[in-house]
Amino acid sequence: MKWENRRSSSNIEDRRGSGGRLGGLGGIRLSGGAMVLLAVAYLLFGGKLSSLPYILSGVQSQSQSTNIISDEDFSDSEDIKKFTGVVLADTEDVWNEKFKEIGKTYEEPSLVIYSGGIKSGCGVSSSAVGPFYCSADEKIYIDLSFYNTMKRDLGSKGDFAFAYVIAHEIGHHVQNQLGILNDAHRQMASSSKKVANEISVRLELQADYFAGVFARYVQDKGYLEKGDIEEAMEAARSVGDDTLQMKNTGTINPDSFTHGTSEDRMKWFNKGFEYGTIEDGNTF
Ligand SMILES: [Zn+2]
Repeated sequence: MKWENRRSSSNIEDRRGSGGRLGGLGGIRLSGGAMVLLAVAYLLFGGKLSSLPYILSGVQSQSQSTNIISDEDFSDSEDIKKFTGVVLADTEDVWNEKFKEIGKTYEEPSLVIYSGGIKSGCGVSSSAVGPFYCSADEKIYIDLSFYNTMKRDLGSKGDFAFAYVIAHEIGHHVQNQLGILNDAHRQMASSSKKVANEISVRLELQADYFAGVFARYVQDKGYLEKGDIEEAMEAARSVGDDTLQMKNTGTINPDSFTHGTSEDRMKWFNKGFEYGTIEDGNTF
């Protein structure tokens, strides 16, 4: 993506180093099981569903102690921060325009850059959960080291793969603004686990669709480069539930899907890219 010398969003909060790192949390790596427990604990202990964080996928960062030859570390890179700011600015432009078209006003969310751990309106999170959107405070949270995780653990690389991740989280904010997230939360609260998972998949695929709408907008403005769409598609494929489950456990359990298969994630991203509209993104 062409991003140099372009407008960067003013809605970036850089909380790295200024109390952003929570004592002791930096080194904690929550396992998948711990994350499920965390979610269950929210429900059991009166936490509202609306305060659950929306994460990109069930992927967990691997411990740093593996003997993978370390790639360049991008988490402190000024370029990645700048790139993130330009992507956020592009999401503001596209969603301001699309909301206007349907007679609504888009409230631009903040994007919080943190390192290690963060306390959001959705509670305390370690960067191991990956980038997420918190609907309670309407902010996106991202540890820029996820750029490394994508390359190292997910095998998806390139700047536009990272743009897809940001645009997907923004997609959850769009859902929140349109009232879709609230409706879904209400349905999920009165559903069985299986049905709640199905609703979750629809929410996630729609966020992928909205990421596709963003990509279409960037293309129409002339900022896409050769290979960008392929990077985003590969990123969408790499975080499909079936792909992650097969990689992590060697088996696939569709009832436990929360984000959708690799094929569906690519399909909906591509659909958003093709249509570029809000109204064609009905995954429900
Ligand atoms: Zn998501």
